[in-house]
Amino acid sequence: MSGDFSPDQKRYLEGFVSGVQAVRGARGAPGFGGVPPFGPASAAPVEAEPSGPDAIHLKAMAAQEKAGRKLVPQEKAKRDEHPFDAYGRFKQMAKDGQFAKQLDDFRIRFHGLFYVGPTQDAYMCRLRIHNGILKAWQFRGVADLAETHGGGYSHVTTRANLQVREIGAADGVPFIEGLVDLGLTAKGSGADNIRNVTGTPTAGVDPQELVDTRPYAREWHHHILNDRALYGLPRKFNVAFDGAGRIAALEDTNDIGFQAVEIRDGFGVAPGVWWRLALGGITGHKDFARDTGVVVPLDQAIKVADAIVRVFIASGDRSDRAKARLKYVLDAWGFEKFLTEVETVLGAPLARLPAEAAAPRPESDRLAHIGVHPQKQPGLNWVGVVLKLGKLTCGQMRGLAAISERYGDGDVRLTVWQNLLLSGVKDADVATVEAEIAALGLATKASNVRAGLVACTGNRGCKFAASDTKGFADLIADHVDGVIAVDTPVNIHVTGCHHSCAQHYIGDIGLIAAKVPVNDEDTVEGFHILVGGGFGADAFIARELLRDVKGEDCPAVVEKMLRGYLAGRAAPDETFA
Ligand code: SF4
Repeated sequence: MSGDFSPDQKRYLEGFVSGVQAVRGARGAPGFGGVPPFGPASAAPVEAEPSGPDAIHLKAMAAQEKAGRKLVPQEKAKRDEHPFDAYGRFKQMAKDGQFAKQLDDFRIRFHGLFYVGPTQDAYMCRLRIHNGILKAWQFRGVADLAETHGGGYSHVTTRANLQVREIGAADGVPFIEGLVDLGLTAKGSGADNIRNVTGTPTAGVDPQELVDTRPYAREWHHHILNDRALYGLPRKFNVAFDGAGRIAALEDTNDIGFQAVEIRDGFGVAPGVWWRLALGGITGHKDFARDTGVVVPLDQAIKVADAIVRVFIASGDRSDRAKARLKYVLDAWGFEKFLTEVETVLGAPLARLPAEAAAPRPESDRLAHIGVHPQKQPGLNWVGVVLKLGKLTCGQMRGLAAISERYGDGDVRLTVWQNLLLSGVKDADVATVEAEIAALGLATKASNVRAGLVACTGNRGCKFAASDTKGFADLIADHVDGVIAVDTPVNIHVTGCHHSCAQHYIGDIGLIAAKVPVNDEDTVEGFHILVGGGFGADAFIARELLRDVKGEDCPAVVEKMLRGYLAGRAAPDETFA
């Protein structure tokens, strides 16, 4: 697909940034793709116009410098030595027992490894699992790798993915190579790359889905993996496919959200199922992906996503990391200018339809990721397993893999709700499966509070965190469940810093960690507390209610908020917003 551009498109891409001749000459250093794999950067003469897959990035960098903007160190690091060209060095560092730190930590994230010091003197590895679905034997294989090279556990992330922690300096490269042996990869899962592609977790088994998202997520996954031009964006980039199933995929929190919609007759395009295109979601910056009015034929999603990414690569801000996301290009240009550029890259117009052309999305169910639910295949079910804040021991992973192979269809389906589903379980086996899951120390039932509890890594493993998010989230859920019966689904999202990995702005109740002053000199772990967030049809950015609440006080404060909501709501389904 990557080479699949018309001469016009290629001319457009090459000419996107004009008048650039000496891309790397000013620094006297070689650039993207120009570094011998193991050699240090050295002085180099002025070079010709860049070409090859890295050219689009190099030209964008040069244009921004020419316009007087100072590139951030990460941009220079990518230009001085492309992270993929550093792999040999990383292998040698692993043999020497050295971690990749500072700018090499940034580069090794292109390979999926994150040095997480000083919190832990270790790597964390984040995988890529398209649509969040992997085979039971792969899941077991990850458990083996986590035991051999990591801390003996994994976490399910809010991008329906797995992370493994406590990987030693010598173990990082063997770990990621072990993933490849399993048919998995961690490539591009960190740094300025297109992240794990998410989709509807019940794809192919969901009675209400409009589209099985798996083939689209898979095609996009392989498309981006195999085109070097699509690595090293100005900043990270998220893409999701929502098939309109019962479990929300949170596509409206992504840079690109493809939403399956039923287009009605009489709007000038063939009625049926199309993707509706939403752009610019980044809830940490208080923005959902906004509807562009564009609809895309199902089989054109990859081409359109590719064109969007290429326009972003050429136009995204490389001088300010805080402003380097797609949202800021859209804010500066407006949607029409951006979509016009996308059409130029595509070499074809995009179809635009009014909102009323699409039938309303079938409603999602905020509890369909937990417990037993009938599939569209008669007599079969998916079983949603509750994980305590996403954590699984290797023994539990092996146990779940065995249950999936014995009673299910062999798929393990991760969700953005930090849990997983086992699909293809026969009606007659449901009770046995639930019992075997319980024997692993896991559950298939949860309170309304536990079912919607999401927490990022926090300061147990992330240097950015101001508090122990998972620890306090656990305390809050335990406390609330002990004192109130909340009769409706509630989402509590606990995040450790402004990066908002746990998306506190979309929680009914959101907490963002803070160092809370207790006197002139000292602080304790705590949170600012927000209320009224939502997603999908109830999309809303939560508003701050309380600042600087000590962590130890949060359980009681959340209890009060829930009591206030239960007493004050007009109807059981009234949202916090
Ligand atoms: Fe780390 Fe911040 Fe992400 Fe939490 S939100 S995992 S603290 S970067």
